[in-house]
Amino acid sequence: MSIIKAEYIWIDGTEPTPLLRSKTRMLEASLIEKVLGAITGVAALPHWGFDGSSTNQATGDDSDCQLFPVFACRDPLRGGDNLLVLCEVVTHGGTPHPTNTRRATQEIEDRTKGSNLDCWYGFEQEYTMMKDGYPLGFPEGGYPGPQGPYYCGVGAEYIFGREIVEEHMTACIKAGLKISGINAEVMPGQWEFQIGPAGLTESGDHMYMARYLLGRIAETYGVDISYDAKPAKGDWNGAGCHTNFSTKAMREDGGLKVIHDYLGKLGQPDRITLHLAHYGAGLEDRLTGEHETASYKEFKYGVSDRGASVRIPMQTDLDGKGYLEDRRPCANIDPYTVARLLAEVAE
Ligand code: ADP
Ligand code: MN
Ligand code: MN
Ligand code: MN
Repeated sequence: MSIIKAEYIWIDGTEPTPLLRSKTRMLEASLIEKVLGAITGVAALPHWGFDGSSTNQATGDDSDCQLFPVFACRDPLRGGDNLLVLCEVVTHGGTPHPTNTRRATQEIEDRTKGSNLDCWYGFEQEYTMMKDGYPLGFPEGGYPGPQGPYYCGVGAEYIFGREIVEEHMTACIKAGLKISGINAEVMPGQWEFQIGPAGLTESGDHMYMARYLLGRIAETYGVDISYDAKPAKGDWNGAGCHTNFSTKAMREDGGLKVIHDYLGKLGQPDRITLHLAHYGAGLEDRLTGEHETASYKEFKYGVSDRGASVRIPMQTDLDGKGYLEDRRPCANIDPYTVARLLAEVAE
C-alpha cells in the first residue's frame, strides 16, 4: 500500500489575531483521485482532531476539538500526490467552534447560490518579512533610508526577500490557488500578494492556504512573516489587506450606479462601526489619515483616491461598471468575515 502525507491545517484561537496550525497524517494514496476528483472531493478525507487546550480553543478537562476538511489541494512543497487540507474547527456534536468564522460565510453562499448576488473578491495581502525582530532590510538598531524607492523596486539596495516571494508565487500556482499577482511594497521587507477574483468562501480558503505556504517557505529562510497592521512605528506605511469587491449587478451595464448605492449603505454609521470591529487589530495605528489611508474616524470614497476609505478604480468609473476597493481592512483580517460583511451589505 502506498501512502501520501496530508497536512491538516486549521485556524486557532489566539487573540486578537488567530494563527495557523497544522499537523501531518498518513493516508492511503488511493484517496487522492477521490479528493481531487469532481464527485467526492474533500468529503473523501477523514475527520481528525487536536488538543484545543494548546490552541486557546478548549479547556484541559474538555480538550478535544474536531477537524472537518473543507478545502484540499496538492502540496507544492512536498510535491507528488501529497495534500494540503484546510479544515474547519468543530466542537462536540458537530457545532462550529466559536473561532470557526468560515461556517457563517458558507451559509450566505449556500443561501444565495444561483442568485444574482454572485460576489467576487480580490484580497491584496500585504505582509512584512521579519528577521531578528526587525523588518528585513532594516539595519540592526537603526532605520533604512526613507520610503520612496522601495515600492515595486529593483536592486539589492531596495529589495529584500525576493527569493521567498518568487518561491511562494510558484507554490501558489502549483497548488492551483487563485493568486493574481505580487509586488514589493512601500516599506523595505514589505510585500503583497493578491488572491482573486474568487468567490465568497473560496477567497478565504485560498487566502489561508496562501498564508500557510508563505509561512512554511519563509521558515526555511529563518524569516518570520508578520501581518501586524503597523510593524514599524513612525513614518512607515502600515500593512493592509485592501478588499476588492463586486456583485454581478456591479459588473454589468449600469453597475456604477449600483456601486454608488452600495457605498451609501456601507457608509451608514452602524455599518461603519460593525465593519471596523472586524477589520483587524491595530486598525487605529494604521488608519491615521496619513500613509495612503483615510482616518478610521471618517468614511469617504472617491474615484482613484488612495486617501479614501473606499476607492472606485478609474477603470470602473470610465467603464461605468466594475468593482470597488475597501482600503480599510488590515493585513491581519479574517478574510471569511470581511467577505461575509461586504456580501451582507449587498444582499
Ligand atoms: P491596486 O491597484 O489597489 O494595488 P491590485 O492589482 O493589487 O490593486 O489588486 C486588485 C485585485 O482586485 C486583484 O486581486 C484582482 O483580481 C481583483 N479584482 C479584479 N476585478 C475584480 C472584480 N470585478 N471584483 C472583485 N475583485 C476584482
Ligand atoms: Mn495592490
Ligand atoms: Mn498594497
Ligand atoms: Mn489596493
